[in-house]
Amino acid sequence: MNRAGAAVLLLLGVCSRVPVAASLDGGISELQAEEWASMPNDLHWMRNAAEYQAMTRQLYASATKVLEERVASGEFEGKQWGVALDADETVLDNSLEAKERRGADFDMDLWHDWCRREEAPAVPGSVAFTRRVKELGGKVAIVSNRSVVVQESTEANLIKLGVPFDVVLLMEDDDEKEPRWERVESGNAKAGLEAFEIVMFFGDNITDFPGLTQDLAKEGESSAFSDFGYKYFVFPNPVYGSWATNAKF
Ligand SMILES: [Mg+2]
Repeated sequence: MNRAGAAVLLLLGVCSRVPVAASLDGGISELQAEEWASMPNDLHWMRNAAEYQAMTRQLYASATKVLEERVASGEFEGKQWGVALDADETVLDNSLEAKERRGADFDMDLWHDWCRREEAPAVPGSVAFTRRVKELGGKVAIVSNRSVVVQESTEANLIKLGVPFDVVLLMEDDDEKEPRWERVESGNAKAGLEAFEIVMFFGDNITDFPGLTQDLAKEGESSAFSDFGYKYFVFPNPVYGSWATNAKF
């Protein structure tokens, strides 16, 4: 498997629990019923906790306030600006896919089947936030490590939810997001789309933020954390992520 493929599996949650026969057809076997009864706390929390919904709304509300203040201050006067958001578990809630898989190993074909259903609900707060960005005169770039094979479905899902976007940049062969952010900022992201400065980044993975990796976890009071809450906004995801392979202390 190439590096990008491995990264996607990691990002999307290859960490398997008890392998069971999963299906997406709605049929629940005895084995699946048993697995469902033991839905792990991480997925249960994301799907059912009031705290999760409060947290994502809080993050988007906070980002809205900061953005409105930055616009009012004149910081962006005379330039094109916008925001970059990751898709999965930042704008799109894929917890149903994990629920339907019932602990079975992550499977790329099943994942793409899920993406093509275009049924992911919005992460709470994301629709209002992206609309507010547009009202304030900003652009919206969705930069995700979903594969380009689900480009059309991903855009259709976002449109169904009412998430406005100027460009959706999915993964072709490089899981690094830096080159895609650079394309946005240099005007090479999409025909007809002017270059704009990305003034805020949103994601549930530390690699959704320029220059940051899991190494940050070892740095304690690092100044690299200072952009969070102003320029960077990170969303909770205890189900999967690059954090999952960190050393356990
Ligand atoms: Mg994500």
